[in-house]
Formats: sequence, C-alpha cells, structure tokens
Amino acid sequence: MMQSARILLCVFSVLCANTGTRGIAAQTPSPGKRIVIAASTVLDGKGRVVHHTRIVIESSKIVAIDPKAGPVDYDLHGLTVLPGWIDAHVHITWSFDKNGKNAGGGSITPEAAYQAASNAWVTLMAGFTTVQSVGSPADVPLRDAITTGHLPGPRILTAVEPLIGRGEQTGTPEEIRAFVRKQKQAGADLIKIFAAGGPNRSEMTLSQEQLNAACDEARKQGLRTLVHAYKDAVRAATIAGCTEIEHGVLATDDDLKLMAAKGTYLDPQAGLVWENYLLNKERFVGTPGYPASLEGFASMEKLIPMYHDFIRQALKIPGLKIVFGTDALAGSHGRNAEEFIDRVRDCGVDPMAAMVSANSLGAEAMGLSDQIGTIGPGMEADIIALDGDPLKDITAVRRVVFVMKGGVVYKNAAIRSIR
Ligand SMILES: [Zn+2]
Repeated sequence: MMQSARILLCVFSVLCANTGTRGIAAQTPSPGKRIVIAASTVLDGKGRVVHHTRIVIESSKIVAIDPKAGPVDYDLHGLTVLPGWIDAHVHITWSFDKNGKNAGGGSITPEAAYQAASNAWVTLMAGFTTVQSVGSPADVPLRDAITTGHLPGPRILTAVEPLIGRGEQTGTPEEIRAFVRKQKQAGADLIKIFAAGGPNRSEMTLSQEQLNAACDEARKQGLRTLVHAYKDAVRAATIAGCTEIEHGVLATDDDLKLMAAKGTYLDPQAGLVWENYLLNKERFVGTPGYPASLEGFASMEKLIPMYHDFIRQALKIPGLKIVFGTDALAGSHGRNAEEFIDRVRDCGVDPMAAMVSANSLGAEAMGLSDQIGTIGPGMEADIIALDGDPLKDITAVRRVVFVMKGGVVYKNAAIRSIR
C-alpha cells in the first residue's frame, strides 16, 4: 500500500526520491552529503564493464568505487549504470515558435526563452548531462542559469556566435582573428566555424588561409574549434589544426587518414537530424535555410544512406576518433539517444564504441577527460541508468530511468527494494 502510494506520487514528480532529503528546488548538491549507489552492471565510460559494485559520491563528485560501501541510498540493481552522456553537437535554443514553425535559435521572445529551458530539461531527462551548443548568443544566459543551479539542465558549452564562411566577404585573416577573440569575450567555450555548404553544395566557403587564421587564433585563446565541413573542407580544416570536424561527408579515405594521424576528432551523424526534418517538415518548410515546398524535403530522404555509408567508411580508418553528436535542434531535443540507435542499427557501430563515443571519448574531445565521461574517483558525479542492456539491445538507450548530474538526482523512476 505504502509502495503503491509512493509510485503514484512519483508520476507527478520525477524528483520524488529526492524530496525527503533536499526538496525539489535544489539544483546544487548539499556540501559534504554522502550518497551510495549500488549497481549490478556498470559501464565505466572507457569500455569496461564492472559487476556488483557501489559508487560513493560526496557533494558533486565520485569519491570511491567500493563494493562494501554503505548504507545504500539508490539501488540500481538490474539496470545498466553508466556516465551521463555527452552530446558534442546540439543547438539547445533552437525551437518551434508559438505557431509551431521553426524559429531557429536566436529568438528572444519570452516563449523562446521558456522553450530553451524546456529543451535543456528534456535533454537532461534523456540522460545527457553535458552538451556542446554550436551556437547562439542566447545559449549564454541558459548555460549560466544551469551552472548556478537556477534551472535544471545539462552542463552547456557554447560557441556563442558561429563564424559563417562567406568566401572573401568573411573577412581578412586579421578580421577573422578579431571575430574569434570577440566570441571569447562574449563567453564562448569553443569556436564553431562553417567552412562549407551542405552535402549538395559542398564547396569550401573559407579559404585555407582563412581557416588557418580561425583555428590558430582559437588555439592561442585556449579554445577548441568545431568545423562544419564537407568534402575538401575536411582536409583543409585538418591541415589548419582545427579540433573537430562536424558532418564530414564526401571526405576521402586519405582525408580521414590525415585526421587520424593528426588526432582530429570526427563527429558524423547517422540519421536523427534528417529523420527529424522529415518528421517535422510542415514545421520547417519555408523557414530560413529550409526548402520552400514540401517536395523539397524528398531529397533529404536520399541523403540518409549517404550519411550511413560515410560512417561505415570512417569506421574502417584505424585510429580515427569518432565522437557522438546529434545536431539536435527544434523537434529533436530530448530524442538525442535515437542517434545511438541509428549508428548501431544502420551503420554497424559496435554498441560499446557508441557508448564510449558519448562518454570518455566525448569528454576527451572537449578537453574534460579529468572531469566527466568516466565513472571513477575524482570525477563529477554524472551518472545515469538504463532499463536494459544497450550492449545487447541498443534501444535500451530510450529507457533512461535514473539521472544524476554533479551529485544531484534529477530523475529516479527506478524504485527497487534492496536485494
Ligand atoms: Zn548543427
């Protein structure tokens, strides 16, 4: 009777398991508070599986992995426990407007602000505890509200305003360097660069010299660079020493081998972004950057196999570091994990490699290996649990039943008795 009443209440509050100790308003961990999680299966984020252990958390960090620790606060037996996922490529503020049409990411209406907060919430609930938004100036107040504990959401890294290649018009190398410094001043955590059109118009929109200036200046400012690139721009961005290539389709094996040799990360997409456009075509049609008629969306369907083939091609390149990024935007926030299913089911990605791409490898690509992406002492307590085993059935990624970020439990639909 007691148990059923508790479950009923939990329907109304995903934070119910936490309300007794902390109250639903708190987004920051209580200093010195100790939490013990018991688990039968833990993926450590680096490719290892640990059985029957306990994770000890103090304040926001994991302090020990100790099978004998107690008392147990959260029993996650029967679930798969792993580090919170990292999405290398989202547009967290992109939303549909009050008429249901794509409004992009720069809108500053009250509706857009609430929608952005909602995007952050559903992304966190889907198990993503860190996202890289690439980017919009509107990301900054959202990032800061989450960092200070005023809103629930994933840890956000933002590019603020991207550098959009427009050939000569983009500016001289000196002007490009000034643009990079301006983003840093505006609070950028990284720099996003558009160096090519799309898969159908793949020509470079920045010269080698312009790309060199952008990525060199970012490096001098201590910032990483994510480059939207297709075809020739992939090699050019790699030569320029940029950190990560987004999309990458139409690159040759030699381009990918050069990336592997230089340690340039690749963030390809297996389908979610296109599936989302097709699912929501009435909402995207006629909005800036999208086809003017519904017929225009038919060609997108033909692009999906090209992206699948590209991931298959990339998987064959020894040493190429492939991270997880979804390009989540209006309509796909909170459905980021669908990209795992696309990668494993449609592209032959090994399920463990898919998990690592959004854990330790994703953290490494962000320069945050010592903080996130792994379950181990000294790491941020970003811990999620799935109802199911993603190594056997990748659709388990849809069933995120427990979410802890920085030592705070935001979701616990996994109420079980201690065995
Ligand atoms: Zn994007």
